[in-house]
Amino acid sequence: MTKEKKKVRIAFFDFADCEGCQLQVTYLNEALLGVLEHCDIVNFREAMSERSDDYDLAFVEGSITRKHDEERVKKIRQNAKILVAYGACACTGGVNGLRRRFSEKEAKDIVYEGRQFPLEAGHPRPVHEVVKVDYYIHGCPTNNDEFVKAVKSILLGKGYNPPDYAVCVECKLKENVCLFEKGQVCMGPVTRAGCGAWCPSYGNTCYSCRGLLNDPATQGQMDILEKYGYTIDELKQKFDLYNACRMEAEKNG
Ligand code: SF4
Ligand code: SF4
Ligand code: SF4
Repeated sequence: MTKEKKKVRIAFFDFADCEGCQLQVTYLNEALLGVLEHCDIVNFREAMSERSDDYDLAFVEGSITRKHDEERVKKIRQNAKILVAYGACACTGGVNGLRRRFSEKEAKDIVYEGRQFPLEAGHPRPVHEVVKVDYYIHGCPTNNDEFVKAVKSILLGKGYNPPDYAVCVECKLKENVCLFEKGQVCMGPVTRAGCGAWCPSYGNTCYSCRGLLNDPATQGQMDILEKYGYTIDELKQKFDLYNACRMEAEKNG
């Protein structure tokens, strides 16, 4: 009698975020069923009520903000053989990183207009600032084709390295007219590809939700800005939306 192969146990967790990346996973339908043949999902708050602390592969969505979140993600790291940060909130801190521009009191005053709320805003961080991350799946939200490709590769033991070339490459392959030609500032030249140039293909500029390339062509981006008459500050404002944690970390050494 052949021994049945043990299925990989997968768990999804969320921290400070909108849960949009989890929602993306629920949209996978047939593609997700294909993956499920080889694994059991044992935690997934968006889609099921069962819970288990026995898992091999943990997907962490959201940025880490409060002390309680820090302790929770450390426990997840202890339990999981492999930890994957998925979505911009987890990979770069995402939009939550903007909170680092203000003190907790200032942020609360802006959001709640001076009214008192006993909520702890905490200090938003990408997951790797708190625990070791094995793999990253970028984006806000994550791209389902990339998600399935990454999960298959991780389950096969090959790991996953996200693309390390610019969004402009995918944009050019789609034969889009460059948005700089239409008077808009775009982060595509220095942003990690993998989304299929999602935003420029629908006429919106890239805000770098997938974060910077490992070795971004900053001089190339500067040359483009100069050619079209823009300043670095106009670019920084866009970059800030998803990458404030990185900007703050670099500023503070
Ligand atoms: S990365 Fe974007 S879609 Fe995903 S949880 Fe964060 S805010 Fe939501
Ligand atoms: S629109 Fe943006 S992503 Fe597309 S080619 Fe121009 S700069 Fe690059
Ligand atoms: S084009 Fe830029 S902002 Fe849009 S999904 Fe891709 S990386 Fe994110």
